[in-house]
Amino acid sequence: MRSGTPQLDIEDAPVRAIGEGELPRRVSVLGATGSVGTSTLDLLAYHSARFEVVALTAQRNAKALAEAARRHRAEHAVIGDPDHYLELKELLAGSGTTVAAGPAGLVEAAERPADCIMAAIVGAAGLEPTFAAAAQGTRVALANKECLVSAGSVFMEAVEQAGGELIPVDSEHSAVLQCLDRGGREAIECVHLTASGGPFRAWERSRLATATPEMATRHPNWSMGAKISVDSATLMNKGLELIEAKHLFGLDPGQLGVVVHPQSVIHCLVSYLDGSVMAHMSTPDMTTPIAVSLAWPRRMSTPTDRLDLVKLSTLTFERPDEQRFPSLRLAREAMERGGSAPAILNAANEIAVEQFLAGKLGFLDIAALVEQTLCEAERLGYLCEVTDLAGVLEVDRSARSLARSCGQMA
Ligand code: NDP
Repeated sequence: MRSGTPQLDIEDAPVRAIGEGELPRRVSVLGATGSVGTSTLDLLAYHSARFEVVALTAQRNAKALAEAARRHRAEHAVIGDPDHYLELKELLAGSGTTVAAGPAGLVEAAERPADCIMAAIVGAAGLEPTFAAAAQGTRVALANKECLVSAGSVFMEAVEQAGGELIPVDSEHSAVLQCLDRGGREAIECVHLTASGGPFRAWERSRLATATPEMATRHPNWSMGAKISVDSATLMNKGLELIEAKHLFGLDPGQLGVVVHPQSVIHCLVSYLDGSVMAHMSTPDMTTPIAVSLAWPRRMSTPTDRLDLVKLSTLTFERPDEQRFPSLRLAREAMERGGSAPAILNAANEIAVEQFLAGKLGFLDIAALVEQTLCEAERLGYLCEVTDLAGVLEVDRSARSLARSCGQMA
């Protein structure tokens, strides 16, 4: 450092380690039995003296939900599918955890007084409970990207009106949050999200037609739930993340891009108008972004492997190939179009992935079904502005039924 350069007083640093006495924080986990949900609970257990678990939810897996509720002494547990209510009730008898079921139960769980909600339900099914927490000003750690894709402006407005906080859990968005400096958005030239490229990165298009659900859910770097693993294989996941980033950081579509980086060590690149590029690095393990989302703007320790760049030795970068992976183009176009287009894209993608996982659709048919649904939606006049949650839910419902009928015609 040159003499005369002002030194940052460590006390003024915006990010500090969590100190004793600043927590415990009361945390609820929506989607507690999933990949992000269980990683969150493992981290809460690692810091068990600091956190109290308020509510936990799942959809059908009553056994895993009950185990988690007992292990973490949760106050309340909710199973989305009412058919599993009695099973959950029996499993939690005598535990002190209260039990509920159904969609209204999920919303009520999200509304329970807590310092932070981990929103880790998969798909647009997470929209209503996550929105309920955000609308009452509860801090939301957001893993459930589909809810921001479907309801972006409506959701951001609800957070702002309630004076709440939305902290991203997706590793790329967590990385962007950490790379934003105090120069303001106007100093940003562009933000690139990195993509691993998924398990089929090097496959020819003709070979992609033979990709099975088993192959698509075997991600090279990340261990994730089935839906997001398929989205990573089609690159739809990166497209959904572009839309998520647009809303989270108030960026124009033209400021957002994607770079394929197979090692998944750099998670974003934020370029500033003076030529500086801020990159964020960490090992590909969701524990780190989850810890950021819980502690931000402070830091908490995690037991994850530390990054060893010498051992890694090589970091490589490529342009994404939208010919082989058209889902990325479809998402980018929906983002540029705005209004109901991203919600239609998301709903059609959820139906297509569900059918692919059930063996009813080929891998290349996923993007084809999404594109066909978007074309039909335009022909039928479904592309419109959406101004409230009811409008988003209506678009979601119509787009799902449109995608199902397009799927039957194919
Ligand atoms: P999983 O499929 O592993 O878990 C999903 C969770 O949501 C489970 O608890 C599941 O319950 C519950 N759930 C499923 N369907 C419904 C429904 N209809 N209503 C209410 N709850 C439901 O997903 P992931 O943990 O992989 O992903 C969760 C979210 O986080 C997704 O939006 C994903 O895009 C995002 N994300 C995930 C990352 C990852 O590494 N996994 C990284 C970044 C973002 P049950 O077990 O009973 O079915």
